[in-house]
Amino acid sequence: MRKTALLLTPVLLLVFICLFGACTMNSGNDPETTEDAGIATRSGDPSEPATEAPKPTELPWQTDEQGRRLAGTDSKLTRDGTPKKYFTISFDDGITQDKKIIEIYNKYNFRGTFFINTGLFGANWTWVGETLGMPSLSHKRWTRSEILTGIYEGQDVASHTLNHPSLKNYSKDQVINEVNKDIENIFDITGIRPVGMAWPGGDPEYNLSTMEIVRDYSYAKFARATTATGGYKLPKCWLKWQPTCSITDGAVLKLAQRYVEKDYDYDTVFYVWGHGYELDYYDIWDRLDELIKTMTEADDVICVTNSEFYWLFKDEIPPISDNIKK
Ligand SMILES: [Zn+2]
Repeated sequence: MRKTALLLTPVLLLVFICLFGACTMNSGNDPETTEDAGIATRSGDPSEPATEAPKPTELPWQTDEQGRRLAGTDSKLTRDGTPKKYFTISFDDGITQDKKIIEIYNKYNFRGTFFINTGLFGANWTWVGETLGMPSLSHKRWTRSEILTGIYEGQDVASHTLNHPSLKNYSKDQVINEVNKDIENIFDITGIRPVGMAWPGGDPEYNLSTMEIVRDYSYAKFARATTATGGYKLPKCWLKWQPTCSITDGAVLKLAQRYVEKDYDYDTVFYVWGHGYELDYYDIWDRLDELIKTMTEADDVICVTNSEFYWLFKDEIPPISDNIKK
């Protein structure tokens, strides 16, 4: 036994040296380590042109003509030509319940879309609770400084117009100001320029003319509508993007389950929309949790923000479809 051990010792030592040596060499040349790559550049021949060290953590944002990062372009999502199932969800108004929504999202490493009004920071709409017969129900928007603390960090923030007006009777200039100023304000706060909006007040509050103004003069490439389809087909047009259902729909978890279980030979999207105050009013926080859990755990469902979805399908869906009925 002792002789064998003595013989093995130098062999093991050699193996150790080889492994250790290989390891050291490998780490010295590892191009994935930014720090190492930087050292290699600095210690190189000064007559050689310095090459930029790779920045592996930098995400591939697309920017607009002014160099502003565009919402939804930081993911590495692409399409491979085979049909896929997508899930997306949005909440309107930029109210305080959004924080609790994001806490649920964070449990599942999920990102959603939030449509906010930057002209109404801090507004307290007590009339919402009063109208619903629950005066204690809160509908309070975040202030600008509260949002600057990073409440929506990592989430998709998009426009709900500056002041949440009924746009159908607004002049062209008023519509443009309501949408574009809101988008610029969101960029000033988040450093990311939104590419979409949700119509304030829902489908009765805009018309074809409003859609054409948004299409021709605004930053918004999509606008979420409020009339639900109950289905999973892709939107017919970007500026009236109809969701599948509202979070207040008692069938939402059934719709989720059906979506997970079924296969489609075409691209589909399951889109849920709502308001944070509705989760309080109907006491359906568990429903939201279950929905996000179900969708994030489904193997063949791709969870996307509204803006990410826009970039994936932007060339296949028109801004306004020919047969739009308003
Ligand atoms: Zn709203």
